[in-house]
Amino acid sequence: MDEIVLKWVTVLSGILTVIVCVSVFFFPDIHERAVLAAEQQKEVGGGNLIATTANPKAVVEQSKDLNAQLKIALPEGISKADVEIENDYVTQTIYIKFAGGVDDYFEQYAIKGSSDHIASMAYYKDKEEGVIALQLDQVYELKNRFKKGSLYIDFIDPHDIYDKVIVVDAGHGSHAAGAVKLGISEKSLNLAIVQQLKKLFDEDKRRIRVYYTRTSDTNPTLDQRVQLANKANADLFISVHNNSDATGNFTKVKGTQVMYSESDDAKLSSKKLAEICLKNVVDTTGSENRGLLKGDSIYIIRTSKVPVALIEVGFMTNYKELDLLNSTSYQKKAAEGIYNAINEAFQEGY
Ligand SMILES: [Zn+2]
Repeated sequence: MDEIVLKWVTVLSGILTVIVCVSVFFFPDIHERAVLAAEQQKEVGGGNLIATTANPKAVVEQSKDLNAQLKIALPEGISKADVEIENDYVTQTIYIKFAGGVDDYFEQYAIKGSSDHIASMAYYKDKEEGVIALQLDQVYELKNRFKKGSLYIDFIDPHDIYDKVIVVDAGHGSHAAGAVKLGISEKSLNLAIVQQLKKLFDEDKRRIRVYYTRTSDTNPTLDQRVQLANKANADLFISVHNNSDATGNFTKVKGTQVMYSESDDAKLSSKKLAEICLKNVVDTTGSENRGLLKGDSIYIIRTSKVPVALIEVGFMTNYKELDLLNSTSYQKKAAEGIYNAINEAFQEGY
């Protein structure tokens, strides 16, 4: 009896060993590519589009003699102070919210002007607010004015008012943490670096407009991230990530890598931008230069229509580098490197 039990224990532990070995070999591939691939599987095509509830052409009374693209009649008693206008660049959606919304705005009030650049529009009530949502065909800045019970809006191409337009992406966010090592999430490191970069641009007095895919713990879809760059026709698209060893285990592997689009054969290419990013981040952080990586397997790189570089600042699977990445001083150095890279790219003509 004992012998049979012993035999089974041996057989079972043998099988268990094989399973463990196989899973260690195949599963903990928490390397960046694997993480991003999993995310893109879930998210591609999952844009947060607002349902078209009205045909813009049918709703907007075409009128050419207006001194604005749109004239939106506001319900009686609604003045400038009762209206809130939000421009969500990530989804290219304008929300015009007014207190005490009416039931069916479109049937009772007029929108005049031109429906050009409006991909879809909707009106809905959100609690006690009426909301007109306009989804635009690209990123626009707005010029608004109020006059005699109406709101006048113009859509302005950012390139008409800024010298340079950049999109900066902090990788992952919210439930998508990226790699997690010793309780430190990649999403938080990426965001911390981007927030330091934002400080540098906030103090920059040049006419540079930076659009961020996120400035807090949110998780725009991969498609929204890349579309922000495409629809702003950005001069540069920079995505900030941190790396993990392919095994997922702590190792001696450390340093900075930058991914680029190998299919981009423009003179001011993704690869050249990646080189500039790599050099500058290594310069300010003192990290090891681990070179460039082809990145067309990554959705946001492959589908970017503008020069893109995905910077893997450091390895979270290296104890020393994880400590550095988690420190404000190193995050600042990384941000300075990216800032310097952007300036060098502009000098190169991007
Ligand atoms: Zn990442």
